[in-house]
Amino acid sequence: KSKSQFADSMRAKAAAGSTTGASEFSKTKTISEQRKFLPVFRVRDDLMRCIADNQVVVITGETGSGKTTQLTQYLREEGYTKFGRIGCTQPRRVAAMSVAARVAEEVGCRLGDEVGYSIRFEDVTSEKTVIKYMTDGVLLRESLRDPDLDSYSCVVMDEAHERSLNTDVLFGVMREVLKRRSDLRLIVTSATLDSKKFQDFFGGAPIFAIPGRTFPVRLEYARSVPDDHVDAAVRKILQIHMTMPPGDILVFMTGQEDIEATCGIVAQRALKLEDCPPLLVLPMYSQLPADLQTKIFERADEGVRKCIVSTNIAETSLTVDGIVYVVDTGFCKLKVYNPKIGMDALQVTPVSQANANQRKGRAGRTQPGVCFRLYTERAFYDEMLVSNIPEIQRTNLSNVVLLLKSLGVDSLLDFAFMDPPPQDTILESLYQLWVLGAIDNLGALTPDGRKMVEFPLEPSLAKMVIVAEKLGCSDEVATVVSMLSVPQVFYRPKDREEESDAAREKFFVPESDHLTLLNVYKQWERHAHAASWCTEHFVHAKALRKAREVREQLLDIMRQQHIVLTACADGAWDVVRKAICSSYFVNAAKIKGIGEYVNMLTGIAANLHPSSSLFGLGYTPDYVVYNELVLTSKEYMMCVTAVDGEWLAELGPMFFELRAQGAEGGRSAKRMREARELESMKREAEFQKELDQARA
Ligand code: ADP
Ligand code: MG
Repeated sequence: KSKSQFADSMRAKAAAGSTTGASEFSKTKTISEQRKFLPVFRVRDDLMRCIADNQVVVITGETGSGKTTQLTQYLREEGYTKFGRIGCTQPRRVAAMSVAARVAEEVGCRLGDEVGYSIRFEDVTSEKTVIKYMTDGVLLRESLRDPDLDSYSCVVMDEAHERSLNTDVLFGVMREVLKRRSDLRLIVTSATLDSKKFQDFFGGAPIFAIPGRTFPVRLEYARSVPDDHVDAAVRKILQIHMTMPPGDILVFMTGQEDIEATCGIVAQRALKLEDCPPLLVLPMYSQLPADLQTKIFERADEGVRKCIVSTNIAETSLTVDGIVYVVDTGFCKLKVYNPKIGMDALQVTPVSQANANQRKGRAGRTQPGVCFRLYTERAFYDEMLVSNIPEIQRTNLSNVVLLLKSLGVDSLLDFAFMDPPPQDTILESLYQLWVLGAIDNLGALTPDGRKMVEFPLEPSLAKMVIVAEKLGCSDEVATVVSMLSVPQVFYRPKDREEESDAAREKFFVPESDHLTLLNVYKQWERHAHAASWCTEHFVHAKALRKAREVREQLLDIMRQQHIVLTACADGAWDVVRKAICSSYFVNAAKIKGIGEYVNMLTGIAANLHPSSSLFGLGYTPDYVVYNELVLTSKEYMMCVTAVDGEWLAELGPMFFELRAQGAEGGRSAKRMREARELESMKREAEFQKELDQARA
């Protein structure tokens, strides 16, 4: 069973009295009184009757009406758990964890007993668990092992309006499961009213609307477009704080960096203001440590105004009581697939009108409120989309395609997507999988592909593990992959940059950032996983402990897949670089100048990042591969490894060939031939589809 730092900290708090924070309301009322006060409680019996009578029910209701926390408990009270678990999916990890903690408190059990959660690499459930919160990705992967989802009696697909990639795929999968299991109940919840689409998709399922209880929210637009949304937000926060009546503030920012900056500047300026009443500024984003996340639910001391600066997680997933003022920057970070560089990138994008209205609504939950939009009214009407583009239409689909293939969906063009992804994206994903050797020329899963799907990893990382077995370094590669799946390994405190940089450099392996990570892990092991060693070397102990957990889970999967654990001779890590090369040869780059490279297939510039060990030690090999390209002031390669030209030709023969002066990429005759083959695959699929339609 995986250990979880979040679950541990929650249990410690539970022992001390309360897991989740206490608002003014919650301090004066018992938990069961609070539950009865929620809008959903008043319609509980009607709702349960509706669910008993219908296999699928779509539920809409304002955020905060109790959908996420109450439905699962009602279903349990009605006895559905006699036939299986109640599962509730969330598009966000943080929401799954936080809500499970709250519900465990309401039920009065330890987190992980009757109520638990499961997110990638972290399963806090047990035999006893009857209410299970999880990310949509986790349920999707469970359907691989348990195609009829037999362990569940009810599934609540929460936050369906988010239209996350995995939720969208689950819709298609669930529709098939429901045909086979007439006893299964599906409840789809949405915070917005555009639920007709879900209703139609499930053959006219009833829509149950929870009557809301909202107060009017006054809107104020900016008169001009601000240059800098951090600065604009800081000014607005302080203006509200200095001039407006009591009430907490919720600010919607883009991401971690901007949130931290905003919190820092507000706190600083508030100190300098004369007669500034006390203000408690709290950040909220998914990578924030769990104990700090729960702070947003805690009530501030008497006379202190609370100001939460959050990503769009506070838009619908989490509800904080007591918000009277909303400050909306009008932006969020979205994962967008960039076909030019063939990968996903997080981009700061204007939100849609639907998001903006949802944000505004957060100000009117308990009393009339005000929403300040830091953009013009014109921008709202002319520049914002009416609603979001579903993730499935804007991201890379390799992962999903691989998963669906192993669920037996042969032709993706036929899968029941609520909004089908662009055909080009499907074909591009098929192509990427073919390049990785996961599917063959006819689009069928290869034996390697079958193994790859078992890993909850990007296909390229799964491939790395599989190749490593053949190269005799699966032990090392499992560590590299684990280290890649945890956030931030190195710690760089603000006032000790030089000292921490020097400590980091001591770990550098000249040829590779991946090997540098491996080196850190190996040394940590050698020092008995000591936390003091981590502090001394400016390494996040939490990150390493998490990497160790992930590694253990990967080793489990490897055992199940009969992948032998092999380790290379001490420090003989060239083969590890070769394994890395085998999964990232699409990101191969050739040297052009000092620290400057170009991607060999796209010709796009790719520079060594100053934090790279290659940069630090001034090592400039002819060829490198990298994990991803990040676009800031320049195109930077993140996580770089030096490779041999011959490896590229050997591992990526469809792209590279050996020339007298080394490997060459580009459109070789072979590459052209393969491209033609892919084209004919595509035609065949289209023809097959036409044929099927003609028959039907
Ligand atoms: P919905 O899903 O309809 O948006 P929820 O079930 O999430 O509504 O929220 C119902 C109530 O539970 C809200 O008043 C919210 O403030 C409270 N709540 C939810 N999670 C927590 C938590 N972690 N700590 C304290 N209160 C919470
Ligand atoms: Mg909810």
